[in-house]
Amino acid sequence: MTTPEELSPRLAELARASGAQLAQAVRDYGKVVYSTSLGPESAVMTDLICTFATDIDMFTIDTGRLPDETLSLLDRVERRYERRIKVYYPDSAAVEAYVQANGINGFYSGLEERQSCCHVRKVEPFKRAVVGYKAWITGVRREQSAERAKGEVRAWDDRHDMWKVSPLLDWTEEDIWNFIRARNLPYNPLHDKGYPSIGCAPCTRAVEPGADPRSGRWWWENAETRECGLQPRRRVIPIKPDPRRVAGA
Ligand code: SF4
Repeated sequence: MTTPEELSPRLAELARASGAQLAQAVRDYGKVVYSTSLGPESAVMTDLICTFATDIDMFTIDTGRLPDETLSLLDRVERRYERRIKVYYPDSAAVEAYVQANGINGFYSGLEERQSCCHVRKVEPFKRAVVGYKAWITGVRREQSAERAKGEVRAWDDRHDMWKVSPLLDWTEEDIWNFIRARNLPYNPLHDKGYPSIGCAPCTRAVEPGADPRSGRWWWENAETRECGLQPRRRVIPIKPDPRRVAGA
């Protein structure tokens, strides 16, 4: 395993700059939290936090529909860093009410049903998890979208009424994977099977090489609506999905 000091000059500089931003966030805001999605950016961010800013709290959300590979990864991450990552779960009564009203896979029925499921299983637990914190850390990168290309390391987050700190803005996807390999970081084996972006099992599928990484998430929807409500990428335009595409998925 490569130590932070033995990385390539580019990776070492990126890690140093991002680590400094994390440490500065703790000095400025005190209570800072990171919600790990256990994706590739999370692998890097977790490593940076455990190296440069150990006072940052970490949690993840188990929606109840995650692939086994993701839950196994959580276990490997905890062992690697000898640190417990708090797991938040959806409110059980809210999940029961959702399933009673929409069915166990009601999210395929339409945009409203899908967003409602994401709200119950992701957004509400997230809001509960960040109560009391002054800032949260995100792993967004400039090259992920035109909107994110204009992003700043620190921004006020109106949605969550706290500061948002994004230390990976200048990292490319290649940087992320080079860092993961150089540091031999634990990552989700589904990435090696054509899944560039991994969320809940029923809403994630593999994509062809070179395809938009997000095209494997909520693939039955218009590209404009494919977000879960935590990190909006684009303006949401309600559409009516074609049920035939869902049935053939
Ligand atoms: S990704 Fe799918 S299963 Fe997971 S919370 Fe959203 S709609 Fe529900």
